[in-house]
Amino acid sequence: MIITNELNLPQAFVQMAQRDEYETANNEYRVTSLLKGIRETELERRHSREIKRDVSDMVWLLFGTATHSILERQKEGDREIKETRLKMEMDGIMLSGQFDLYNEEEERITDYKTASAWKIIYGNYEDWRRQLLIYAYMLRDAGFPVKRGRVVAFLKDHSKRDAKVKAGYPKLPVQPVDFTFSERDFQEIEVWLKEKIAQVKRARELPDDRLPLCTQEERFNSGDKYAVMKKGRKTALRVLDSQEEAEQWMASNGGDSIEIRPGEDKKCQDYCAAKEFCSYYKGVCHE
Ligand code: SF4
Repeated sequence: MIITNELNLPQAFVQMAQRDEYETANNEYRVTSLLKGIRETELERRHSREIKRDVSDMVWLLFGTATHSILERQKEGDREIKETRLKMEMDGIMLSGQFDLYNEEEERITDYKTASAWKIIYGNYEDWRRQLLIYAYMLRDAGFPVKRGRVVAFLKDHSKRDAKVKAGYPKLPVQPVDFTFSERDFQEIEVWLKEKIAQVKRARELPDDRLPLCTQEERFNSGDKYAVMKKGRKTALRVLDSQEEAEQWMASNGGDSIEIRPGEDKKCQDYCAAKEFCSYYKGVCHE
C-alpha cells in the first residue's frame, strides 16, 4: 500500500500507518478478507502494492491499532492466550486469523473493536459474530474448546449527552457484545467457509473485470426507496421499501406521486480500498 500524507501530519502517524501489515502467502487468506465480497478480496490482494491511502483517512484504523497495542502489553491470566495468529488449511487454501484473547476456563474468545455508536443502536452484529465463530472454529480445530465469543467495542463517536437523553442510545463508550456458539453454528460455518473457499478458487482464475460483483449487502446498499410525495411539499410524506408498499400507503393515507430514490453503494463510495481497480465502481458509482 502507498501511504500519502496530504495534511503533513507528524511522521509518527505515517510510521504507524506503515507498520508492518502481516503478509499473506499466495494461497493464504485472512479471515477478515474472506468476510468481504470476493471482488473486493481479490482486488485488494492483486493491487495491494498500488492501493493508495492518505494517513488522514486512516486515523480510526490507527486508533484501533493503538488500542490493541496498549491492551496487548497487559499480561494474560494463567488460562488466557492473547494476540495469537491461527492457521488452518481447508480445501487447498490456508485460512489465517488473529484473535485478541482466548480464555480456556470460560471457553471464550474475545476481540477488541472500534465502532460507531450506531452499530450498537442498530444491533446488527452478524459480521462480528461470523468473524468470531470462524476463529472459534479454527481454535477448536487446534484443540481448544470454544463455546462463547465476545466483542469489546470502543465507541469512537459516543456522546454523553445523547446517552442521557436518547432512548436506545448506548449508555457508556465501551460495550461488550456476547455470542454463544452451538454445534449447529460450527456445522453452518464449516459449510459457509467451504463455499467461500470454492468461490475464491474460481475467482483466482478470472481477470479483474470478470470477478463476481460484490452483493448489494456487501456494497452496504440498503436498496431503492420509494417516497410518497405531495404537491407543494418538499419532504416525503413517507418513505417505503417497495413501489407496492408505497402505492398501498398512498391509497390509504393520501399523496400525489411516488419518487424513486436509488440506493447508494456506500461501501464502494467511501469504504472500499480497492475501488480504483474496480470496473463496477468506475462505471456505475464514479461520476
Ligand atoms: S468498489 Fe464496490 S463492487 Fe467494487 S470491489 Fe469495492 S465494494 Fe466491491
